[in-house]
Amino acid sequence: MNKRVSALIVAATLSTALLPLQVLASQANAPLPFFATAHTILKDSIAMRTVEGYGQVPRLAEYLADKFRQGGFDEQDIHLLPQGETTALIVRFRGDGRSGKKPILLSAHMDVVEANPDDWQRNPYELTEEDGFYFGRGTSDNKFGVATLSTTLLRLKAEGFVPSRDIILALSGDEETAMATTMLMAGKYKHLIDAEFALVADGGGGLLDEAGQPISFTVDSAEKTYATYQVTARNPGGHSSLPRTDNAIYDLVQALANLRDHDFAVRYNDLTLAYFRHTAPLVDKAIGDAMLTFADNPQDPQALAVLRAHPEFGGSTGTTCVATMLKGGHAENALPQSASATINCRIFPGISVEDTLAELRQVTNNAALEWQVLDAPKASDASPMREDVFTAIANAVHAKYPGLPIIPHMASGASDALHFRAAGIPSYTFTGIFIKSSDEFAHGLNERVPVETLPFALGMWHSILTELAGD
Ligand SMILES: [Zn+2]
Repeated sequence: MNKRVSALIVAATLSTALLPLQVLASQANAPLPFFATAHTILKDSIAMRTVEGYGQVPRLAEYLADKFRQGGFDEQDIHLLPQGETTALIVRFRGDGRSGKKPILLSAHMDVVEANPDDWQRNPYELTEEDGFYFGRGTSDNKFGVATLSTTLLRLKAEGFVPSRDIILALSGDEETAMATTMLMAGKYKHLIDAEFALVADGGGGLLDEAGQPISFTVDSAEKTYATYQVTARNPGGHSSLPRTDNAIYDLVQALANLRDHDFAVRYNDLTLAYFRHTAPLVDKAIGDAMLTFADNPQDPQALAVLRAHPEFGGSTGTTCVATMLKGGHAENALPQSASATINCRIFPGISVEDTLAELRQVTNNAALEWQVLDAPKASDASPMREDVFTAIANAVHAKYPGLPIIPHMASGASDALHFRAAGIPSYTFTGIFIKSSDEFAHGLNERVPVETLPFALGMWHSILTELAGD
């Protein structure tokens, strides 16, 4: 899951048309169709420790497949795609094709990041409701997404809704680790998930200020390429009583100092400029002014400097690369024979992994350094700002939060959406979760979501799908 836009978004400067959350919560107390189903799926799925190494994802997939069978989905439209100890689950909700449009893909992931019960205040593998929150591993990332999307399809089916195009639910089984199930779906089984666009319920969504007032709703529509490089300086070494000026550690340190001082070129696209325009009214004036200036003229050096002084915004102005790990030497009384550093980059869409490596070589300015690209980074283009998608999202969100800004955003990577985009399916990531930055503990301890966000999310997905797959 991607970190949501946060910290510097201050005070609720928005229109007074926004209702306090307490009022919204009381409106949500009316019985909501299928709320109990969503709660049960959330509870049961959190009880399954779908952490890598425990082999529990297939159990969850089978559990969900059963719900779909019981809900009237045809066996031939339910696909389990095993991959090692995990699995993907694909469910097709057949429409009658009357719109003539390609399917809509919905996605979330069934696996979670490890949570050690000894470190938590409550059992992470048990859904606990307390102080207005649901606590448990996956309450936000990403069993909330699994439960809300699954329930919405079950509800639509039960209501007799006939989509005007197919709706496909694709649940991956190792998003937090290898993403092999995602690549399987986007590759060998692309025919099962091929769609006009994808809505991914894992990231983005609503942000509350510290007083609990809604500030904005974010839709991640692109992500930077996550790429990691290893750079190594080598040296014949020798005895430390006989030092020389050539030294692997000094060579590496010099290279990293050059990287620290390097400014990557300014980059922008329609999405990032729209993001700055929408976000400007929500932040401190000095930063907001810089955002507006940048949106009009991305080459403005002052605006760029202001944005880059704030890491949560600077990343939307270009590629970033930073040293994250270091090792070197082999004995305290020997000259180092090697020293290496790990450099993690978040590459702006449109720039290749290879071009970024060439820039790193140039910046570090030492032809003797050895470079290696770790793993197999995958680049994806930004998804276009589709009017149908953004309108449907706005309609669903504004029904409860009138006037709330809907902000297109570029995430810093990496999620399932990247593989869908790379397979030619534009993807938009958002959940129905509204949460304060200070309550955000995805991947961390005591992960939680506000209780009142569950009925909202169910209503939101129902509204979006009836609009995009209705008449
Ligand atoms: Zn996630």
